[in-house]
Amino acid sequence: MKSIHYAFIAILTTSLALWLGTEHALSTPLHFWPLRKTIIYGSGIIAIIAMSFATLLAIRHFFSDSFLDGLDKRYKLHKWLGITGFVAAVTHWLFIKAPKWLVDLDILIKPIKNKHGNGESLSWFANFFDYQRHFAKDIGEWAFYALIILVLMMLSKKITYKLARQSHKLMPVIYLVLVYHSIVLMKMADWFTPLGIFLMLVLVVGSISACIALLGKIGHSKQAHGEISTLQHYTDNKVLAVTIKLTTPWTGHDAGQYAFVTFDKKEGPHPFSITSSWDESGEISFNIKQIGDYVNTLPHSLAIGDHVVVEGPYGNFNLDSGKQQHIWIAGGIGIAPFLSQLDNLASQQQQADITLFYTTNMPDEAFIQQLHKRCEQAGVILHIIDTNQRGMLTAAEIATAINNYATTDVWFCGPAKFGHVLKSYFVKAGLAQHDFHQEAFDMR
Ligand SMILES: Cc1cc2nc3c(=O)[nH]c(=O)nc-3n(C[C@H](O)[C@H](O)[C@H](O)COP(=O)(O)OP(=O)(O)OC[C@H]3O[C@@H](n4cnc5c(N)ncnc54)[C@H](O)[C@@H]3O)c2cc1C
Repeated sequence: MKSIHYAFIAILTTSLALWLGTEHALSTPLHFWPLRKTIIYGSGIIAIIAMSFATLLAIRHFFSDSFLDGLDKRYKLHKWLGITGFVAAVTHWLFIKAPKWLVDLDILIKPIKNKHGNGESLSWFANFFDYQRHFAKDIGEWAFYALIILVLMMLSKKITYKLARQSHKLMPVIYLVLVYHSIVLMKMADWFTPLGIFLMLVLVVGSISACIALLGKIGHSKQAHGEISTLQHYTDNKVLAVTIKLTTPWTGHDAGQYAFVTFDKKEGPHPFSITSSWDESGEISFNIKQIGDYVNTLPHSLAIGDHVVVEGPYGNFNLDSGKQQHIWIAGGIGIAPFLSQLDNLASQQQQADITLFYTTNMPDEAFIQQLHKRCEQAGVILHIIDTNQRGMLTAAEIATAINNYATTDVWFCGPAKFGHVLKSYFVKAGLAQHDFHQEAFDMR
C-alpha cells in the first residue's frame, strides 16, 4: 500500500471512530426516526472532515508533497477525499429529504415533536447558534447543490479541464459556507468531546487553506520568475522544448521532478516535468507535447524573452535507487522526466546498469538524435520503439532485459493503462510492488 492509501484510511477511520465515540451515536434506539437523525449527523461530520482535508491538499505545501509521494499522488488523495465528501453529503441530503417526501406521500408517519423542549434554558452562547439554525440549514442546502455541480464538472471528462478547473475556484467559498453550516448545527455538547476538538482543528486548518486559495496565494512561496531563453520545436513529434533563464532565486530540483509553469497569467499554471539538471547556469527546461487546447497554441504564442513564472519543484519520481539494474520505460512525452536524470548521470560516475525503452508513434529524427547523444553521455542503453513500424512494446520484451527481479527497479512514465499492464506483468514475474514506480500525467 502507498502512503496515500494509509492517509485515506486513517482520515476515514479516525472520523468514524470519533463520531461513533460520542455518547448519542451508539445509543441511538433502533427505530427509523432516531436512526435517521443519527445518520444525518454522522454523514454531515464525515462530509465536512473529508472536504476539509481535500481543501488542505488543494494548496500545494511542501510537507504533504514529500509525505504523500509527490504532488500527483496528493491530487489523487484530494480526489478520493472530494468524492468521499460528496457521497457523504448526498447521504446527508437524502436522509433529510427522502423521509419528508415519504411523509408527504403518506407512506411514513411523522413523529410528534416535543415543542416545549426539555425545559432547560439555553446559555447566551447556545442561543446565539440556535437563532441561526434555519439560515444555516438553508444556506447549507444551496451550498450542497453548488457542490454537486462542481464535483460532477470535475469528474466528467465531457467538460473541458479548463472550464472544470476555473469553476473549481468556487470550491473554497462553498467549503466556507459548509463550515459555517457545520458549526451552527453541531450539537453543543459534542464540541467538548474528542470529536469536537478534532473537528475544530480540522475546520481551522481547512478554512485557512480555503482563504489561501481564495486569495490566489497557492504555491506563492515556491515561485521563481524568468524569461524564455531558447525555443526548439520538434515538428514531427509535436514537442516544444522551452528553456527559461530564471532571474529570481530557485531552490534547485532533483531529476524527475516537475514544476507548474505560467506562460500566460490568464491561462494559469500547467504542470510539466523538468528536463534539465540543476546547475549554476540558472536555466530550467521543459518539453511540452501539443496534446491539449492550450498547449497546442504554445509553438505560435511563445517567444524568446517572454516572462514566465515557474512554481516548484514538486514530485518524487526521482529515479533514485540502490538497485543494480534500472529499467526505464517512457511512452511518448513520458520521456520528459528521464531527460533530467540523463543530464545528471552524464556528470556522475554511475554504477548501475540502466536500460531505457522509449516508445513513440511519432518519431522525430532530431529529437531521437538528441536522445541518443544524452544516453551515450550518461552510459544508458537506449531502445527506440517506433510503434508505427513494428507494433506495441510488450512487457515480455522488456522482461528479456531484466537479469534478476530482486535487484531491479522499474520506472515508468506514459499512458496509465500501459503502466497498469506492465506493473501487473512484472509483479507476477517477481518484481516487488514498491519497485515499480509510475508518474501520472493526468490529474483527473
Ligand atoms: C505531474 C505532471 C507532469 C507533466 N509533465 C508533462 C511534460 O513534461 N510534458 C508535457 O507535454 N505534458 C506534461 N504533463 C501534462 C500537461 O500538464 C498537460 O498536457 C497540459 O497541462 C494540457 O493542458 P491543456 O489545457 O492544453 O489540455 P487539456 O486538454 O485542457 O487538458 C488535458 C489534461 O491535462 C491535465 N491538465 C490540464 N491543465 C492542467 C493544469 N492546469 N493543472 C494540472 N493538470 C492539467 C489534465 O489532466 C487534463 O485532463 C504533465 C502533467 C502532470 C500532472
